[in-house]
Amino acid sequence: MATRKRVTILGSGPAGYTAAIYAAMAGLEPLLIHGPSTGGQLMLTTTVENFPGFANGIMGPDLMEETRKQAERLGTEFLQDLAESVDLSAQPFLVKTASQEILTDSLIIATGASAKQLGLASEKSLIGRGVSYCATCDGFFFKDKIVYVVGGGDSAMEEATVLAARAKTVTIIHRGDSFKASQRMIDKAKREPKISFSLNSVVEDILDAGKGEVTGIKVKDLKTGDVQELPADGVFIAIGHQPNTELFKEQLELTESGYIMTDGVKTSVAGVFAAGDVMDERYKQAIVAAGNGSSAALEARWFLSEKDAESSAS
Ligand SMILES: Cc1cc2nc3c(=O)[nH]c(=O)nc-3n(C[C@H](O)[C@H](O)[C@H](O)COP(=O)(O)OP(=O)(O)OC[C@H]3O[C@@H](n4cnc5c(N)ncnc54)[C@H](O)[C@@H]3O)c2cc1C
Repeated sequence: MATRKRVTILGSGPAGYTAAIYAAMAGLEPLLIHGPSTGGQLMLTTTVENFPGFANGIMGPDLMEETRKQAERLGTEFLQDLAESVDLSAQPFLVKTASQEILTDSLIIATGASAKQLGLASEKSLIGRGVSYCATCDGFFFKDKIVYVVGGGDSAMEEATVLAARAKTVTIIHRGDSFKASQRMIDKAKREPKISFSLNSVVEDILDAGKGEVTGIKVKDLKTGDVQELPADGVFIAIGHQPNTELFKEQLELTESGYIMTDGVKTSVAGVFAAGDVMDERYKQAIVAAGNGSSAALEARWFLSEKDAESSAS
């Protein structure tokens, strides 16, 4: 038999946990479904320096564990599972996981977006140890350091420009013979003397997984086939993000790049709200996701009170 909930939250990143805190404080006894990565993207990083309230920074996993405990203390119920399907065509909405069916009066989607990876084993083991997917988050750690940005679009140009403010040198590595970025962004990067460009090149390996820190990269020139080993302190991967919206494709309006389309945090279906990286193509920051989470829970509360008022009037 299906469980009935007032608010169900999909995702346990900053957006999901914050939505849970607000919904729990409003007495809505939310159910939060963790999804495939409990704690979300910040579990992959080391120190978070830009989340307000921590004078000395805080480790990403510690921040998420504290936020989870806060949501739990206030009355959130957790389900260690992932939503396998949703039916948003009628109210209450139906969420199916491997273990449960949940009928819910409102739904908050906070399933995030995943940074695309190069797929190197060394990349994976050096995340947070010199490999990063976010210059705004981690550029701070690379003052006077040698860094590389991988990618050829606007985000690669933007990451390089952000990094150039602190790093010693920034080299953009791109596999193509021209950039996909807009001319405006390319020109902006070209005006920065610390930034140089390496076209027709791919990163074959990131060194040194054995030491647990980035010390260099192996770059292959696609025209000559030559492989060079270069010193490096940081490698920023900027080859795009994949929003986790597969489940909602036929049910909610999505943007061209697959993010949930919203008006504020309201989706195209009344009673369904979206928060964080799953709807935010632009900022992709933990504090923004948390802010969206609080807005989504407030909207869910208002939606439910209006619904209650309508049904008691009829
Ligand atoms: C390595 C790294 C370092 C970063 N450092 C910083 C930093 O220093 N400062 C900063 O502000 N930002 C940082 N960011 C960005 C920040 O982590 C994200 O902006 C933020 O985590 C987005 O929060 P979110 O809750 O929207 O999504 P996420 O954190 O991506 O969480 C998504 C959640 O959805 C769940 N989920 C997915 N599919 C399903 C499903 N089918 N059913 C149920 N749940 C599902 C996942 O399990 C996960 O819990 C960093 C990102 C990375 C990758």
